[in-house]
Amino acid sequence: MSLRPFAIAVLAFALMSPTSYAEGISTDRLAWNAPQAPFRIYGNTWYVGPHGLSSILVDTGHGLAVFDGDLPESAPLIEEHIRALGFHVRDVKWILNSHAHVDHAGGIRALQRASGAQVLSSVAGAHELELGGADPDDPLYGSVPYYTPVKHVRVVRNGETLHLGNAAITAHYTPGHTPGSTAWTWISCEGTRCLDVVYADSLTAVSAPTFRFSDHPLYLAGFRRSIAEVAVLPCDILLTPHPGASGFWERIERRNSAAGVAALIDASACRKYAAAAAAGLNAHLAGEHAGAAAARAAKPTVVYRRVAAPR
Ligand SMILES: [Zn+2]
Repeated sequence: MSLRPFAIAVLAFALMSPTSYAEGISTDRLAWNAPQAPFRIYGNTWYVGPHGLSSILVDTGHGLAVFDGDLPESAPLIEEHIRALGFHVRDVKWILNSHAHVDHAGGIRALQRASGAQVLSSVAGAHELELGGADPDDPLYGSVPYYTPVKHVRVVRNGETLHLGNAAITAHYTPGHTPGSTAWTWISCEGTRCLDVVYADSLTAVSAPTFRFSDHPLYLAGFRRSIAEVAVLPCDILLTPHPGASGFWERIERRNSAAGVAALIDASACRKYAAAAAAGLNAHLAGEHAGAAAARAAKPTVVYRRVAAPR
């Protein structure tokens, strides 16, 4: 693919305003959950999500690993897609999470129930999953819908490589978008050709109206470290929780039309994704400073309603 659509797609995501993000979650659910036939991405890596939210299946040879359960209403679609590919839902042994917002974790509890799978996450991710997304330490706390809490989450350490069946899957903590954000990496092969696959988490700086990254210098420094770490991951095929954030559908279209697997591969994709995230974070911080100046000049006139916590 040319760099241009990728850069535009990534930057558009990185620059999403907090308002558009929070509103997006409540108004775009139908579009995110739009139908999408499942298909093989490369080797043992398959796409089983709806069109607007990634759910990635890795066939480990001894059980299936599924990354993300998407929205609560996505879970039945993901199950249907797994079956349509000839796999069995009961063979899903592991469910891994990018981050614990409703659009990537809302369907996990249902998938966990249907399969009996072990749910795996970072320390902070496990905490937020068990709170159903209602984590006061999350920059978006109070501005996104919550979901049925996920129980019995197994914590994966930063840098830990999980040997799931024949697959080796490594967790990379990338806190920022949420405290528990995690990138996952593994290698997929077709014949003797093996490629580095990265399921990088969202790196968008979004927050509830009351949260300012500039008020949390340690969190902000961690966010910048996360962006720097994603930039240097071994990265042949970049996948992201929102497929549009990494130009996924354009790459798939080119792969399917003529270019073949070469269209999926871009060794600089993680670096470009990180660069767009850094630009988005800087723009968000500039907005915070401008907002602070405006707030000094005028009293606030907007009242934000909190989202009710799950019972
Ligand atoms: Zn999110």
